[in-house]
Amino acid sequence: MRDEVVADLEWVIEYWPDLVEARIPGTRRPWRQPTLSPEARAARDAQARVERFERTTLSLGESPAPVDVAILSTALDILVAADDLAAMVAEHASLPVLPPPGMGELDAWPYLAYAAAHLTEELVEHAAPIARWMVDQTARALCLVYDGQTLDVECPWCHEVGVWRVRELPGGLVAIVCHGVCEPPAREVGTWWGGQPVWPIQDWERLARHVQAAEKDVA
Ligand SMILES: [Zn+2]
Repeated sequence: MRDEVVADLEWVIEYWPDLVEARIPGTRRPWRQPTLSPEARAARDAQARVERFERTTLSLGESPAPVDVAILSTALDILVAADDLAAMVAEHASLPVLPPPGMGELDAWPYLAYAAAHLTEELVEHAAPIARWMVDQTARALCLVYDGQTLDVECPWCHEVGVWRVRELPGGLVAIVCHGVCEPPAREVGTWWGGQPVWPIQDWERLARHVQAAEKDVA
């Protein structure tokens, strides 16, 4: 159970930069390949931090880009929840409490990482719905950005290109749907919708690894 909560928190950490970026309309990101090496990841994170810093500085003076209020408020809600969760985890583990985010700071990473690292068994039950809520909120917000987008990748199972589309399915499930003639093995499919295989947004990292592995086989 603890592993699941930590996995949820790590998922939100992984997609946090996309969420923060998505609050500025017009920054639709293409399908993001997760970075493989720790070095590449560190470089990307450093870049993201620099960009965020510049943006924060900019937004104080010059006219900032218009902000998507729905996404910004989601990011703020998650930041507040992450700060609360980290504080509770710190108290339970008798560790120092992280300083709260400063004005204009939109960085949930330290709180999410702290909560994931020090979560005690007694808090798991309390933290589980919070972490799941963060995943849902992030997925929902990103769907506003990604919805309807066709991904420029080859499906590793039906080998067609451009058949993956991001959709919000009934019930609010944010997912990639393959519109090809596609029948992946059962263990590789999240679920099915209208006869097409569907992968919920939570599976995207795993899915991306499949795509990369398949691309490597071809190369
Ligand atoms: Zn397919």
